[in-house]
Amino acid sequence: MKIGNHLKIKKKAIYFLAGIVALFVMTILGIQYYNDYKYQQTYEFKLIEKGYTKEEATILLEKIKEEKILELLNEEKKDYLISIVTEKYYLEKNFDQYLDFYEKNKKHGMYDIIAMVNVHANQEWYEKIEESDTTKGNLLLVNKYYQLKEDYVPDNLVSVSNWYCYGTNKITKEAYDAFLNMYQKAEEQNIKLIINSSYRDFKSQEATYNNLKNSFGQKKADSQAARPGHSEHETGLAFDIFSPGNTTTSNFKDSEAYQWLKEHANEYGFIERYPEGKEYLTGYNFESWHWRYVGTEIANKIKEEQITFDEYYAYYLE
Ligand SMILES: [Zn+2]
Repeated sequence: MKIGNHLKIKKKAIYFLAGIVALFVMTILGIQYYNDYKYQQTYEFKLIEKGYTKEEATILLEKIKEEKILELLNEEKKDYLISIVTEKYYLEKNFDQYLDFYEKNKKHGMYDIIAMVNVHANQEWYEKIEESDTTKGNLLLVNKYYQLKEDYVPDNLVSVSNWYCYGTNKITKEAYDAFLNMYQKAEEQNIKLIINSSYRDFKSQEATYNNLKNSFGQKKADSQAARPGHSEHETGLAFDIFSPGNTTTSNFKDSEAYQWLKEHANEYGFIERYPEGKEYLTGYNFESWHWRYVGTEIANKIKEEQITFDEYYAYYLE
C-alpha cells in the first residue's frame, strides 16, 4: 500500500471518530436540554421561581391539591403557607378556609387558626348548623354546629340508681357501666362521685332554653344553656358530676373529685368536655363538672394529645 492511501484512511477514521464524538456530545446536550425543559414545566420549578425554596415546594406539593397549586402560581408568594400545611391537625379540605381565616385573624397562633377552622369556630356559634351524625355511637358529636333532631332518643338508656345520683337520671348502658367502675375506684380512694344531671330530651332542653330566652333574651340564654338539639345531655353520654362538699358549678373545680377525674377519668372512657382555656373551640365556658363518655381508647388519645373532643372529631372522624 502506498503511503498516500494510508494517510487518507487514517484521516477518514479521524473524521469518523470526530463525528461520533460530536453526535454523542449533541445527544447528551439534547437530553440535558430536554430534561431542563421538562423540569421547567414542573410545579416544583414554578414554585421555586415564585420564591419558595425547593424544600418548601416539595412540602406544598405533598399537602395541597393540584388545582390549589395552580392558584398559588398566579399569586405572590405567601410566607405563612408552610406553617399552615405543616400544622399537625392540618386538613387539606379546609385549605381555603385556613387562608381566609388567617388573613382576617393574624393575631391568632397557627395552631388556633387550624383548630378553629377544623371545629367550625371560624363561624359564629349556631351560624351554620348541620345535623349530628348519630351513626357515630359513643363518638356522637353535639355542639353549637351539630344538632340532634327533635325526635332523637339514644339507644339503651338505663336509669341511674339513686345511690349514685340526685333526682331521676338516665344514661346509656355502656356509659353507666363505665361510670360504675369509675365510681368504685374513686370510692376506694375516698372520692365520692355523684351524678347531678344526665340525659335530657329535646323538649326539656327546649323548655329550659326558652325560659331563659323569654326572661333574659337570646344572648343571655345562649350563655347559660344550649339551644334545643345542641345539648350534649341529649346524647345520653354526658353527665354533670358533683361530690359531697362541692355541689355547685362554682366550687366543683376546687374539689379532690375534680382532680381525681382529671387524672383518672380517661381510664374509664370519660373526658373533660369543656376544659379551661378551650372556650374558643368548644363554645362553652370551662365546666369542671361536665364529663362525657367516649370509650377508653379515644379518651386516652384525647387526653394524651390534649385536644378537645370537637378537635378530635374534626381531625380523626369527620
Ligand atoms: Zn352538663
